[in-house]
Amino acid sequence: MKTKVKTGNPQNRQSPATLGVHMKCCNVYIYAKINPARDAYVGWCPRCTKQVRINIVSEGGSTSRFFEAE
Ligand SMILES: [Zn+2]
Repeated sequence: MKTKVKTGNPQNRQSPATLGVHMKCCNVYIYAKINPARDAYVGWCPRCTKQVRINIVSEGGSTSRFFEAE
Protein backbone atom coordinates (compact mmCIF):
# COMPACT_ATOMS: atom_id res chain seq x y z
CA MET A 1 0.00 0.00 0.00
CA LYS A 2 1.24 3.40 -0.92
CA THR A 3 1.39 6.18 1.57
CA LYS A 4 1.02 9.64 0.21
CA VAL A 5 2.56 12.48 2.11
CA LYS A 6 0.28 15.40 2.28
CA THR A 7 1.97 18.72 1.92
CA GLY A 8 -1.05 20.82 2.67
CA ASN A 9 -1.52 21.64 -0.95
CA PRO A 10 -5.27 21.82 -1.46
CA GLN A 11 -6.41 19.31 -4.04
CA ASN A 12 -9.51 21.26 -4.89
CA ARG A 13 -7.51 24.17 -6.21
CA GLN A 14 -5.47 22.43 -8.82
CA SER A 15 -3.78 24.65 -11.26
CA PRO A 16 -4.85 24.38 -14.87
CA ALA A 17 -2.55 22.47 -17.19
CA THR A 18 -1.68 25.48 -19.28
CA LEU A 19 -1.23 29.16 -18.71
CA GLY A 20 -1.39 31.96 -21.23
CA VAL A 21 1.79 33.99 -21.33
CA HIS A 22 2.60 37.10 -23.26
CA MET A 23 6.19 36.99 -24.46
CA LYS A 24 7.28 40.59 -24.56
CA CYS A 25 10.52 39.72 -26.35
CA CYS A 26 8.69 38.99 -29.59
CA ASN A 27 5.22 40.22 -28.73
CA VAL A 28 3.61 36.79 -29.06
CA TYR A 29 1.25 34.81 -26.88
CA ILE A 30 2.07 31.28 -25.88
CA TYR A 31 0.70 28.62 -23.58
CA ALA A 32 3.12 27.51 -20.92
CA LYS A 33 2.63 23.97 -19.67
CA ILE A 34 2.69 22.91 -16.08
CA ASN A 35 5.76 20.88 -15.14
CA PRO A 36 5.64 17.36 -13.65
CA ALA A 37 6.29 18.72 -10.16
CA ARG A 38 3.32 21.03 -10.63
CA ASP A 39 5.21 23.91 -9.09
CA ALA A 40 5.80 25.98 -12.19
CA TYR A 41 4.73 26.60 -15.75
CA VAL A 42 7.34 26.35 -18.45
CA GLY A 43 7.21 27.42 -22.06
CA TRP A 44 9.33 28.66 -24.91
CA CYS A 45 9.04 31.61 -27.18
CA PRO A 46 8.36 30.22 -30.68
CA ARG A 47 10.39 32.93 -32.33
CA CYS A 48 13.58 33.30 -30.30
CA THR A 49 13.24 30.09 -28.21
CA LYS A 50 13.72 32.00 -24.99
CA GLN A 51 12.52 29.91 -22.07
CA VAL A 52 10.03 31.21 -19.57
CA ARG A 53 9.29 29.74 -16.17
CA ILE A 54 6.50 30.92 -13.92
CA ASN A 55 6.50 29.61 -10.40
CA ILE A 56 3.16 28.66 -8.95
CA VAL A 57 2.47 30.34 -5.66
CA SER A 58 0.44 28.04 -3.45
CA GLU A 59 0.04 30.32 -0.45
CA GLY A 60 -1.96 33.49 -0.77
CA GLY A 61 -1.41 33.03 -4.43
CA SER A 62 -2.14 35.46 -7.10
CA THR A 63 -5.44 34.86 -8.82
CA SER A 64 -4.01 36.06 -12.06
CA ARG A 65 -4.36 33.57 -14.87
CA PHE A 66 -2.35 35.54 -17.31
CA PHE A 67 1.29 36.42 -17.21
CA GLU A 68 3.81 38.46 -19.07
CA ALA A 69 7.41 37.49 -19.67
CA GLU A 70 10.13 39.94 -20.50
ZN1 LIG B 1 10.97 35.86 -28.15
